Amino acid sequence: MRIPPFWISLLLLVIPIIASQPLSRWLDKPMAYYLLQQKMEEIKASMAERGKQLDTALSTQLAQFDFDCGAKDMVLLRDPRFYSTHIRLQGLELASGVNCSSLGVGIPLIKEAKKMGGLPGKFGLTATMDKFNTEQELVAYYKSGENIAYWVLDNSWSHDLLQHPCTNCFYLEFSQRDPAAMTTHFPRGNKAIKAEESSHSLSFFDQESMTKQTLWAGKALNDYARQQVRFYGLWIGAALGLLLTVSYWLLRNYRRSLKGLLQAGLIRREFIPFYQPVVNSRTREVVGFEALLRWRRGGELVPPGAFIDYVEEQGLILPITVQLLERVLTDLSSLAATQWVSVNLVAAHIEQPLLRNLLQQHQWPSPAQLTFELTERKPLTDIKSATSEITALQERGYHVKLDDFGTGYGGFAYLQSLGIRQIKIDKMFVDTIGTDDLKRSVLDAIIAFGRESGMEMIAEGVETQEQVDYLYRQGVYLIQGYVFGKPMPLQELLLWQQAFRRPHSETA
Ligand code: C2E
Ligand code: CA
Ligand code: CA
Repeated sequence: MRIPPFWISLLLLVIPIIASQPLSRWLDKPMAYYLLQQKMEEIKASMAERGKQLDTALSTQLAQFDFDCGAKDMVLLRDPRFYSTHIRLQGLELASGVNCSSLGVGIPLIKEAKKMGGLPGKFGLTATMDKFNTEQELVAYYKSGENIAYWVLDNSWSHDLLQHPCTNCFYLEFSQRDPAAMTTHFPRGNKAIKAEESSHSLSFFDQESMTKQTLWAGKALNDYARQQVRFYGLWIGAALGLLLTVSYWLLRNYRRSLKGLLQAGLIRREFIPFYQPVVNSRTREVVGFEALLRWRRGGELVPPGAFIDYVEEQGLILPITVQLLERVLTDLSSLAATQWVSVNLVAAHIEQPLLRNLLQQHQWPSPAQLTFELTERKPLTDIKSATSEITALQERGYHVKLDDFGTGYGGFAYLQSLGIRQIKIDKMFVDTIGTDDLKRSVLDAIIAFGRESGMEMIAEGVETQEQVDYLYRQGVYLIQGYVFGKPMPLQELLLWQQAFRRPHSETA
């Protein structure tokens, strides 16, 4: 059953789209993991960026504090130059117990900072207290003697970050490396995720701030990933479907193009010989046949005129001749041993040792049964190679006839250099018999030349008895043409031969 092209294209278009949906199920987990990794990378990058910004702001500011919460310190604390998106508030806590901040009053700072004493000359990190029912904030502090400068960091960047690409998909915890130092985690995002059974997490330790970041994702991210994979799967499926459909049409057009058809024809061995008899009009003997190429396409028989030039141009003549010759070689066994079959050649066959190799591959079939003809209509480009090839064939006993003699390039020159002994007189000249056409004198001249130089002559395209008779009187006895028989497939040819031999031949 042949599926119509429309349905094939529709299937090719739709199948990848449909298939993309179940396939996307395999991809949603890896996609979710990928998104988690991406988010972790973003967090790392933001932290690094924040670290850099804070470092420069804090150290410039530090150098200028008087550590007395006086007017100069207050100006410094409120100086917009020292506020970045990462600083919410900054303040001083003095050894004297005095407190001040950019808001005016100081905030009760984390006890740990005092307890730990901090590392002199280094920033410490701690958190705002966990008791105000608000999110804890990270606090950077610096100890200068017994005075402390502190910066309450603004963590809103992490909020924004955690709500992309989907809301409530991530949960982030900051924790101090030394859990004994501070048990507080700074939870950000959707805390419920951590408790989910299917949740997974990634961590990294930030050397700079001495904090560990752990990022969790669970069902919400999985759902989002699945949705994304489906969405992209749909587009990729559609693109693939489109690509397949277009490729299908291109391939189909190529197949339907002449070259594609010829190549498919070669594979299906569609190139076959038809045989046209050559009859000796003196004896009514069928001396041989010309093998004429036919392309059997389905029920149709395509004559060579429709494709032979294109075949040569596309370099397909060799494989086609191979196919034709193989059929001829098998068919020879159905013919009398005295009958030959003549195969048409083109220059390419004899300007390289192609024909010679082909004959060798077939163990040099009997030259009494297999001969060749080379047309004069198309020029030989490499006459030297052609001559040496033809000589090599002649040494093996094969004959080459000059086809379409008088119609084209250098007939007489070819005869001499190629050592050819047989000519085929073209239909163009035969047609002038019984007319006053000027070419009739050319026909006579050709015949005279052939006779004098001892050429064997075959007249082609002979359609009437009048032509047969005229040629007979001129000494041309070998006749090929509709008057005796058209080109036929082998089986028809065998029947034709039986009928031709019967005695009603007196009519000739
Ligand atoms: P060609 O070699 O000159 O072949 C003779 C052509 O004249 C054949 O046409 C034949 O069918 C046709 N013909 C023979 N007797 C008569 C007649 O009495 N009246 C008319 N009107 N026509 C007649 P076909 O078979 O169509 O072949 C055409 C040409 O295609 C051939 O001319 C030949 O040049 C080429 N060709 C055929 N087979 C092959 C082949 O296997 N290889 C190559 N390279 N060329 C081939
Ligand atoms: Ca021919
Ligand atoms: Ca011819």
